Amino acid sequence: YKSIFDDRGRIVRVIGRSQNVEKTVKLREKARLDPLTKLLNKVEVQSRVEEILENEPDNTHVLFVIDIDNFKQINDTFGHTFGDTVISDVAETLKKQFRSNDVIGRVGGDEFLVFMKDVSIEKATIKAQNLCEVTEKEYSGGNVVKYISTSIGIAVSGVDGYTYEELFKKADHAMYRAKKSGKNGFSVARGDD
Ligand code: GH3
Ligand code: MG
Repeated sequence: YKSIFDDRGRIVRVIGRSQNVEKTVKLREKARLDPLTKLLNKVEVQSRVEEILENEPDNTHVLFVIDIDNFKQINDTFGHTFGDTVISDVAETLKKQFRSNDVIGRVGGDEFLVFMKDVSIEKATIKAQNLCEVTEKEYSGGNVVKYISTSIGIAVSGVDGYTYEELFKKADHAMYRAKKSGKNGFSVARGDD
């Protein structure tokens, strides 16, 4: 702000720019989120995961890549707008299944990423199994029934890689292996992923 004085030194005018702080904070927040699901977007997910890997390099963290099975059929049968609500439903399930300090995001059309902080491989595996069960759903309209489920790939920090890129790549390959072996299941990364 700049004050303008008259010849007696009294302020006659103040010129400046005001900023609506609340609005700025909201806009910044919005830029981090995926508009459909309100989960973190791909860029934000990566930066949060990298921050954890940097701050806690010696702890065990697990990265999940989760892709909806047969999702195209939902779009093709019930329309894109209905498809959107199915994506949002899966997002809500993920929010319920994980802790608030886990990183949860949408990283592709029907692909999600969860990064569980400080967790044992055993617990993460149970989580993946459980996730497969709770995301298995059927949608019907008229006399058509379509089924969705999820395929999950898992990579473990310090075992499968040390960076976001390494862990994502391994978990993504493992997820495709789960698809190949019949979908609706999970697969843990292997050395040759
Ligand atoms: P798979 O079981 O092998 O995963 O096959 P899929 O049918 O689930 O299809 P895939 O994962 O290969 O592709 C996801 C599809 O999701 C592609 C695209 O048409 C659709 N899609 C991507 N983004 C959106 C979105 O925001 N809304 C809706 N409704 N559909 C989307
Ligand atoms: Mg899919």
